[in-house]
Parts: sequence; structure tokens; C-alpha cells
Amino acid sequence: MSGKSGESIIGAIEAGGTKFVCAVGSGPGEQLLARESFPTGDDPGALLDAVAGWFRKCEAEFGCIEGVGIASFGPVDLDTASPTWGYITSTPKLAWQYTDLVGGVRRRLGDLPIGFDTDVNGAALGERDWGAARGLDDFIYLTIGTGIGGGGMIGGRMMHGLLHPEMGHMVLPRIAGDDFAGVCPFHGGCWEGLCTGPAMNARAGAPAESLAADHPAWELETQYIAYALANIIYAVSPRRIIIGGSVRKAGRLGEERFFRMVREKVQGVLNGYLGSPALSTGIDDFIVPPLLGDDAGVCGAIALGQREL
Ligand code: ZN
Repeated sequence: MSGKSGESIIGAIEAGGTKFVCAVGSGPGEQLLARESFPTGDDPGALLDAVAGWFRKCEAEFGCIEGVGIASFGPVDLDTASPTWGYITSTPKLAWQYTDLVGGVRRRLGDLPIGFDTDVNGAALGERDWGAARGLDDFIYLTIGTGIGGGGMIGGRMMHGLLHPEMGHMVLPRIAGDDFAGVCPFHGGCWEGLCTGPAMNARAGAPAESLAADHPAWELETQYIAYALANIIYAVSPRRIIIGGSVRKAGRLGEERFFRMVREKVQGVLNGYLGSPALSTGIDDFIVPPLLGDDAGVCGAIALGQREL
């Protein structure tokens, strides 16, 4: 059985801290045959039962699911040689600590090929197959929302390494006069502690989307993001940086102005040091929003499943 495009049907799971977004299909747009959300809650077994039941229902309508892709919140174990590969590990969400996500899905759906990666690497892969990173072997995907995550590809391979990148916790210089302590339970004012949606809310006393376009929190937000992007550019040398997640929509400031501010501030931090046109005249194509929008994650899970087939 196969989807409209003639490609195999994948069961996709974008496992997030607040909800699991599931889909059945072979790609974005028309190739996404069905989708459903489930609250993450605090009972992994019950949630996986509900997801598996929904997949079975979809199979009756669209045909056999031939592979599964899971893009998960973490930390996760991505070491295929490890006995806990496919597990969510030391997450602060206690009910989900050391949950065997891949095994749990396999026990319910049978011995299917299952692709597994971080949520952010999943979204990166979706953008590479169908979105803003098409044709690129070196790029970074960031999500800035309730947390900050970063992933992507170097030399055509997903970034894994010892564990997986945790770019959200990088250390940034303090902007003079900013004494906000930050909200990261581990580091206080790391990037995530300063720039997530909840951090903006704690700093300004109101949700980011409600802040006026000229609220000083936006200046600080985009300046700290610019520091982080400059660090990433120096350390990894990506050909493009995609910024997804909810914060970049920027409420009353608007996504376009948010990106303009980030781009200008990145150029300010780099101060002309890197002589690539991509970072000067080409900056609008270098720092971009995701082309798949909010579907990047779930499409990425489809891409993970397809690679495993
Ligand atoms: Zn941190």
C-alpha cells in the first residue's frame, strides 16, 4: 500500500512536552493524509495506547503503515549501540523519565522500521527534504518556544555526537544593565533561560505575543539571539540558519520585523569579520523562518521514518 505520491505511508510522531502531534502520510501538504494531537500528560502507556489506536484507525482508511518516525523531546538516547536507545532519559517531566518510546511503539504496532531522533533534528530533516534547507548539507535548525533547541546537519549527517547538541544552554554575554536572572533551572541566564517564551513572560510580566512592538524586551530578545547565532556561525559554519518555534512569530512585532532585527544584530555582532556575501548582502536568505511552518516537526518525523525504511 502507498500514499498518493506512490511513496510508503509513515506513521509520524512529533513527541512534545505538552502534546504529541501524530500524522500519517508520506510528506507535507497533500501527502499528509491525517493528523491528530494528544496531550502528553503523565501516563506514557495510556498515551502510546491512544496513538497506536489512532494509527490503526488510519490504516483502515489509508492503508498499511510501513514505517514509523519519532521526533522526540529530550534528552533522548540516540546511541544505537546503547541498551537504552530510543528512550527519553533524564527529562524534568518526571512521569516520562526513562520511557522506552521506541520499544513502546514497537510493542503496540509490531516490528516496523522505526526512525528516532530529537524533535529539533526531526524538524531539521523535514526542512531539508521539503523546506528551507533543501539541497543543503550544512545547516542549523533552531526552535525558540517553551524551550530552545538546535540541531541540523554537518556534511550531510545529522548532528549527534556524544549525546546531541543542546544549543539552548549556551552561555551568552550579558547586555549591560540587564539584571534579569533567567529561568533555566540549571543555569539561570543561559540562552534558554533568557530567550524562551516563558523567559520573555517572566522578564516583561506579560506574554511575548502581547508586548508592544517597541517594548524593550524585543530589543533584548533579538540581541541575545544574535549573540547565540554568531556563536553558532563561528563554531559550525552553517550555510543557513532556520529559526522555528513560537517566539519568532513575535506577536505585535511581527515575524518580518523580528527577523530583520535578528539579521541586523547578527551583522552587528560579526562586525564584518566573516567575508561571505551570505552574511552581508545575502543575510535575508541566511537567517530564515521554516518553510514548512509549524508542520516542520511532524513532517520531519515522516522523513525519519522514510530514512529507516
Ligand atoms: Zn540552561
